Amino acid sequence: MRTFDVRFPTSQMLDGSDAMNADPDYSAAYLRIETSAPNLTGDAFVFTIGRGNDVQVRAIEIMAEKIAGLELEYAFDHIGDIARELSADSQLRWLGADKGVFHMAAGAVLNALWDLFAKSRGVPLWKLLSDMTPKQLVAAIDFRYITDALTPEEALSILEKGFAGRKSNEEILLKKGLPAYTTTPGWLGYTDEKMLRLTQEAVDSGFGLIKYKCGKSLEDDRRRLTKIREIVGPDFPIAIDANQVWDVDVAIAWVNALQEFDLQWIEEPTHPDDVVGHARIAREVAPTRVATGEHASSRIIFKQLLQSDAIRVMQIDATRVAGVNENIANILMAAKYGIPVCPHAGGVGLCEVVQHLAMFDAVAVTGHHDQRVVEYVDHLHEHFMEPTNVVHGAYMPPKSPGSGAQMVESTIAEFEFPSGIYWSSEKGKAHALSSNTAHSSSDILINEKIGAR
Ligand SMILES: [Mg+2]
Repeated sequence: MRTFDVRFPTSQMLDGSDAMNADPDYSAAYLRIETSAPNLTGDAFVFTIGRGNDVQVRAIEIMAEKIAGLELEYAFDHIGDIARELSADSQLRWLGADKGVFHMAAGAVLNALWDLFAKSRGVPLWKLLSDMTPKQLVAAIDFRYITDALTPEEALSILEKGFAGRKSNEEILLKKGLPAYTTTPGWLGYTDEKMLRLTQEAVDSGFGLIKYKCGKSLEDDRRRLTKIREIVGPDFPIAIDANQVWDVDVAIAWVNALQEFDLQWIEEPTHPDDVVGHARIAREVAPTRVATGEHASSRIIFKQLLQSDAIRVMQIDATRVAGVNENIANILMAAKYGIPVCPHAGGVGLCEVVQHLAMFDAVAVTGHHDQRVVEYVDHLHEHFMEPTNVVHGAYMPPKSPGSGAQMVESTIAEFEFPSGIYWSSEKGKAHALSSNTAHSSSDILINEKIGAR
């Protein structure tokens, strides 16, 4: 087992800036499981946005020690039991439960195993999942705490219903891919000029929906949305994303003040744990739909969001929860409740990995339909062995064996923190001083008091 603390200095460009996350340095707490077979490794990562990535790395190391020495096919046959045991560790569970750093660490270990399973069979992960029997898939799920929403029998029947369509769904996927939407033009730190230029480029490249960050100032949002509507016209689908900045009442008033812009959805209107708040927002901002999930810590939060009619769009994330296993549960719960899964991506590597889950959903669970769009953001793809291939607004299915998580070796050598080539350069050291120190741009009072930054 090897781990790497990989960080990219993205905050210099304000890529990724939104109302909550002003200066993210996109990072990966990266795990590589080595095997006795030469060149067969299981690669996975947890996405973070900078400081604390070292803590995530350490948690992954502690979690990964548990599976050292397991035989690969044994692990495949018992992946559901392994998932349950990682989440139920009699001491580590105290630091969760089923959420946070150790839950994401369990996700990294499980995702590295799935990467190994797919690589050892010579297929991409979406294909591996889509070829598994309904029984095998159900056995991979930890049903603890969700049987009041989805029983193993119900999960099995959803998968069996999808079974007949697998072949034709796969043919459609190989031919047409999956519809993508883009967030590239929408970062809050961009000037209007840059935002509008990128908007035009996104429309020209075939994306069917564009999402914009919002929530810093209502006046600002109205100005930006007015200009955007002038460029894209009244009918082009646009969505907004508040990244959790509002209290519930503020969210309701704010979104209702933007109704004239005919928004597809409001994303992350408030705190990710506030299921009851989301439900009220959903009722009171209709017809604007509520979307969330990139920060939903587990299947238990998703269960409650679905049970309380709080979301119309469910946004799973590849590295927030306990791996492929928990996302299979999330996808099946969404199928039962009739809510489309529109995965969250962007960051670094999230597009590469989450596309496999959306493709599994499209082939083996809910099939192809016009409610699914997969997020796409156009940066940092070059750091992966098989970068996402988005053609005219559609994700084309990856062909290489594995889960898509494997980074290019030279990238790890360059961006490993703090010893990599970039971070030990003068430029990197200066950036680390301003961004990777104990103080953050959000420490306004503290910084004022002690004169930091
Ligand atoms: Mg978002």
